Amino acid sequence: NRTPLMAGNWKMNLDWKQGLALVEELGDQLKSVDTDRVEVVVLPPFVDIRTVQTVVEADKLPIGYGSQDISAHESGAYTGEVSGAMLKALGATYTTVGHSERRQYHAETEEVTDAKVKASFDAGLTPILCVGEPLEERQAGKHVEYTLAQLEGGIASLSAEQAKQIVIAYEPVWAIGTGEVATPDDAQEVCAAIRDALRALHGDEVADAVRVLYGGSVKSSNVVELMGKEDVDGALIGGASLKAEEFARIAGFQ
Ligand code: 13P
Repeated sequence: NRTPLMAGNWKMNLDWKQGLALVEELGDQLKSVDTDRVEVVVLPPFVDIRTVQTVVEADKLPIGYGSQDISAHESGAYTGEVSGAMLKALGATYTTVGHSERRQYHAETEEVTDAKVKASFDAGLTPILCVGEPLEERQAGKHVEYTLAQLEGGIASLSAEQAKQIVIAYEPVWAIGTGEVATPDDAQEVCAAIRDALRALHGDEVADAVRVLYGGSVKSSNVVELMGKEDVDGALIGGASLKAEEFARIAGFQ
């Protein structure tokens, strides 16, 4: 009874005009998708969010939106950063935290992801905490251990009430942008381990409520099998979310 969530991470692609065109086209494509049964979200670059808000509100599109990052701080002298309150004021409802590209290129440690998850809740946004192992860890058979350490670091200071609302995205680094999707069994193994860890930390109610997404080379051709797995509740989609028709096909996986 967890509503599937399909979130499109645009990464650093599309200026506001291109973003506008994509959301309009996505709105059209979603007419053939039962959006009461699946939540569809886009995560544009910060500078496109205002435009996305305008189209979504004007056309009453069944599309949620959010950001790819959030400042850990509330306001003030943090040049270049964007606060949760600013995002909330634009009608954003989600933000990803700790995407592997942020961990890799912007030195986001567990301390940072923990603070950003907290900042998201403080602002009234739902964090999508991204976790997942690089290739070496998988080859060494340490993928579960590695991923759970990131999970525990990212949710260290949450109350059970907050933990219940968080979204976790399992994105193995070796599957991101490579075309090499994890097998449904590999995705299930780690998504189940994430849910077990949530159960151990916060109990059944939290574990059964939290949506655990898979991310990494998701396409319309592999989404059905992935979604067939018990602990996979949706997907975080990069490249394939930049094409309206393909993203709508993914959202309509049922
Ligand atoms: P791709 O779907 O392009 O592999 O990207 C996955 C991802 O990183 C989504 O956050």
